[in-house]
Amino acid sequence: MSPQTPIVIRTLGDILAHPGHTLSAHCPACRHLEPLDVRRLVARYGGDIEPRELAPLLRCRQCDHKGGEIIISTVGRSA
Ligand SMILES: [Zn+2]
Repeated sequence: MSPQTPIVIRTLGDILAHPGHTLSAHCPACRHLEPLDVRRLVARYGGDIEPRELAPLLRCRQCDHKGGEIIISTVGRSA
């Protein structure tokens, strides 16, 4: 395997399979940013769902706005 191989994150299952990636929900109304628990989402929706499919399902904990943006971030590097 090559270290150059890009990691393609398409589904929630992919995120779980590649530690170092986290999912956050961003509220466009109040700009609240909330980390999402990927394991819980997978348990609920299955590993084949794509993060963007979750966006309309989001509800902001802070302002109760429905719908948001899903942000995938990379945290650090494997030491
Ligand atoms: Zn909000």
